[in-house]
Amino acid sequence: MRYFSASLQKKIVEKIQCSSHILLLLDYDGTLSPIVSTPQEARLKSSTQTVLKALTKNSRFTIGIITGRSVQQIKRLLGLKKVIIGGNHGLQLWSPKLKDRYNLAEGFKYRIKEMKQELKPLQEKFPGSFLEDKKISLAYHYRLTNPSLYSRIKTEFFERIDPWVKGQKIHVLEIKKGWEVLPPILWDKGKAVKWILARHPKETFPIFIGDDVTDESAFKALASKGVSIRVGRKKSSAAQYFLKNVPEVEKFLVTLANTGKQQFQIGS
Ligand SMILES: [Mg+2]
Repeated sequence: MRYFSASLQKKIVEKIQCSSHILLLLDYDGTLSPIVSTPQEARLKSSTQTVLKALTKNSRFTIGIITGRSVQQIKRLLGLKKVIIGGNHGLQLWSPKLKDRYNLAEGFKYRIKEMKQELKPLQEKFPGSFLEDKKISLAYHYRLTNPSLYSRIKTEFFERIDPWVKGQKIHVLEIKKGWEVLPPILWDKGKAVKWILARHPKETFPIFIGDDVTDESAFKALASKGVSIRVGRKKSSAAQYFLKNVPEVEKFLVTLANTGKQQFQIGS
């Protein structure tokens, strides 16, 4: 894993200048917005929103967000049009341009309701932990609890969901300080990346930036084509490069946006 230094970025940007189209796919939390205590707080900084907006206005770029959040929630947080959204780790795909909607998990909603009832007592038992109902998936976060409780929380969480796990009725995904319960479908961010890429011209150059364990499948999906960047260094990651933090991601986006502008000025 190499640091995505300014000189490496320059090389990539040069490569991109030869591509007729760039598909820039990004995770949201921990990538575009710093990790916050509760998911509701993760608003986009106005400078990040500005640069993303500039990129969406550049016809050479297609921007997509692939996130664990729901499509509705991410639309609200982004406040941007013309962005492809892969919600619930790509289980819900929404694209303004392709007019393609893809929802793999519609029938899963009733099971979410059942599990919510079963997991609710954990919120009172472990203060600070909370459930997040994403309609077609359910997340349980424990990052605000006392670290001494972590192992007890894990035991109890898995005890409660055991019947569904045994019946293969759910898929449990480990997320940062929590778990997410999803439909038992073999689907992940990597498959979502491939799905989106397949709906673009062959010469499209893809870039993916993410920070979490759930982003690894997306890094792998771009192993033979495009560029994958992880926010934060991690030895075992499948990403080609890493950036140190969220502000460095924004800087790279600014570099990308300016490149487009320069080319437009030269060409016009
Ligand atoms: Mg993330």
